Amino acid sequence: MDFANVYLDNNATTKVAPEVLEAMLPYFCQKYGNPSSMHSFGGSLARDMERAREQVADLLNCDPVEIVFTSCGSESDNFALRGLIDAFPERRHIVTTAVEHPAVKNQVPYLRKKGIRVTELKVDRRGNLDLEELKAAIEAETLLISCMFANNETGVTFPVREIGEIAREKGVFFHTDAVQAVGKIPVDLHDLPVDLLAFSGHKFHAPKGVGGLFIRRGTKIRPFIIGGHQERSRRGGTENLPYIVGLGRAAELAKTNLILEETQVRALRDKLEAGVLARIPDAEVNGDREHRVPNTTNIGIYYIEGEALLLALDRHHIAASTGSACASGSLQPSHVLRAMGVPLTCVHGSLRLSLSVYNSEAEIDYVLEVLPKIVAELREISPFHTMEEIRAFGA
Ligand code: PLP
Repeated sequence: MDFANVYLDNNATTKVAPEVLEAMLPYFCQKYGNPSSMHSFGGSLARDMERAREQVADLLNCDPVEIVFTSCGSESDNFALRGLIDAFPERRHIVTTAVEHPAVKNQVPYLRKKGIRVTELKVDRRGNLDLEELKAAIEAETLLISCMFANNETGVTFPVREIGEIAREKGVFFHTDAVQAVGKIPVDLHDLPVDLLAFSGHKFHAPKGVGGLFIRRGTKIRPFIIGGHQERSRRGGTENLPYIVGLGRAAELAKTNLILEETQVRALRDKLEAGVLARIPDAEVNGDREHRVPNTTNIGIYYIEGEALLLALDRHHIAASTGSACASGSLQPSHVLRAMGVPLTCVHGSLRLSLSVYNSEAEIDYVLEVLPKIVAELREISPFHTMEEIRAFGA
């Protein structure tokens, strides 16, 4: 077994599936025409693009015309919010949550500057929403509810069906950022009362730089990228055909692999989580363990710093992630864990492990061998060794 790279950071991005790469390759040097061209060299490729749209629609159980291809999940989220707000300028209030990905959350200050009122709902200690609070937040002027499907840091899923039903009942639109859900759990748009749903290819084994937005038929929305008439005039810009073909193939694979996510990936995640909790004292899972995507665990390990932990894991060729300050490239500790009321000391030692179908049991065994030793070493040099010491220090 080669442990050169144990990749447990699949919520950050995933490996491109070999089948996806193979499907894409002809579209660089042979089938490189513009699918919007009049000539058959380019124009005939429109068929391949529509095939990809069908593959995505098949994964999400919607009509292919309801899928607009974009460059990423962030673009899809911006398109959803700003496209809707532009289409309904008289409705000046939206409702979202405190734990959204920056692709939604960081639009809030911008929207407020534009005069949109934004209610950000709180979550409880397990990362769950209070649906009564959600109902109460909706006003006559409310245009939209935007709540993520699955949280990127904890994996916690929101009750999308119930939220959608509330939205329908109150006559407001519902957008969900499903970037961390699509490809991990079934997403059935025939069944779910969702108007707009964002997804991103690189979270389910397509390359980075391609994603999409589901727009339910009949939903009035303005384009976010204004340009040509591509994507039925909903998104300007020459279509990124190689990547769109890759996204289609990845969607097809994801559909067949959903069962593996539910069985194999879940079993490995559960083994990893149980093993860590059994071997490392003063460690706890952040977030609701029941309502969660099957590939993610977020474990708070007291008395250590996440940055130091990640570096030590990296020396053992294990790639993971933390909600701690500097390692995530921001100055602030995770806004998600803070919104959940996780104590700062635990946020700093939080470790996100996110798996994929490419992980093996041998890799999990290796992590379970290495991680407790690293934590023990870091705790040796930690100024704190008990909760009492932390409390006495006021941390
Ligand atoms: N939304 C969520 C929940 C995410 O996890 C991410 C990426 O991490 C995004 C949106 C942004 O997706 P992209 O990287 O494709 O812009």
